[in-house]
Amino acid sequence: MHDLVIIGSGPAGMTAAIYGVRSNLSVLLLDRLAPGGQIVNTSEIQNYPGMGTINGAELAIKMYQHTQELGVEFDYLTVTGVTPGEKGFSLTCAERPDDPVEARAVIVATGTTPRTLEVEGEDRLRGNGLSWCAVCDGAACRDQDVVVVGGGNSAVEEALFLSELASSVTVLVRRTMRADPASCDRLRSRDNVTVMEGWNAVAFEGAACLESVRVRCAATGEERQIACQHAFEYVGLEPVTSFVADLGILDDAGYVVVNSGMGTTVPGVFACGDCIEKDLRQVVTACSDGAVAARAAARWLKNA
Ligand SMILES: Cc1cc2nc3c(=O)[nH]c(=O)nc-3n(C[C@H](O)[C@H](O)[C@H](O)COP(=O)(O)OP(=O)(O)OC[C@H]3O[C@@H](n4cnc5c(N)ncnc54)[C@H](O)[C@@H]3O)c2cc1C
Repeated sequence: MHDLVIIGSGPAGMTAAIYGVRSNLSVLLLDRLAPGGQIVNTSEIQNYPGMGTINGAELAIKMYQHTQELGVEFDYLTVTGVTPGEKGFSLTCAERPDDPVEARAVIVATGTTPRTLEVEGEDRLRGNGLSWCAVCDGAACRDQDVVVVGGGNSAVEEALFLSELASSVTVLVRRTMRADPASCDRLRSRDNVTVMEGWNAVAFEGAACLESVRVRCAATGEERQIACQHAFEYVGLEPVTSFVADLGILDDAGYVVVNSGMGTTVPGVFACGDCIEKDLRQVVTACSDGAVAARAAARWLKNA
């Protein structure tokens, strides 16, 4: 039985782990993947104080090393359910369904996952030219034609990254660009970038691999075909929280509802980072939430 089990080792979970061990709790940090969360696949982070511009994977390694220096226990497990019991919580895990992890208190820090467009050809060409991660698959785009779908910060950052490798980058934006103006200006100033505002991707086409994206103008209904070998979707995120739906702690969109101490309506269950209901989903806010959650969990455990 651990004092505190943290589900998810992104910036939120890792910060919670650091604050948890520094409060003298026995902390187990779980992740279904390598530690780091979404920043592992982010090319450049330019807004984490003190770091200037840092590669996302490098920041993730620094954070993980910090947890290890402090003695946080880490395990590769995918949590599929959290069941309250008399003395704490039982966490069922996909990798060992008959051997649950026991915890006195739990922090949910499972972040979000990319939303899909749900258009023709998407399932078939997934991994065959169509991707959700420019850092993972961008190297294959050298001197090729690339389409990026989306107009938010993630889309613009990744389009900037891709424009340094690809011969052309076409950015499809459903309405208008929503990313911060400085990044939009940088993108528009690149010679090999075309921004198409008011255009939707309606199909991914190609036999075995992606060959083109069919696009439709929202205003006129005109359709065009953009020839490309790679396309990347950045059209929003969905919370990874279905495994705690039974606890009744989610809002209609699936985000965890928390109070100012990151506590949920279930005593002993806390949540932090991108998976909670909030306005700004960034590394710095995830870390802040993680610190608050661990401190609140430590206080709760002291009085339990
Ligand atoms: C393309 C892109 C670019 C970005 N650029 C920036 C930027 O420049 N600056 C910035 O501040 N932010 C940026 N962000 C946002 C930032 O990455 C997130 O706000 C931050 O990673 C959130 O941290 P988190 O710990 O809440 O969640 P995540 O980083 O999503 O981590 C959640 C972790 O939980 C794990 N997990 C999920 N479900 C389970 C389960 N059932 N069992 C076990 N483990 C589980 C996942 O594997 C993951 O490791 C970017 C995001 C994207 C997608």
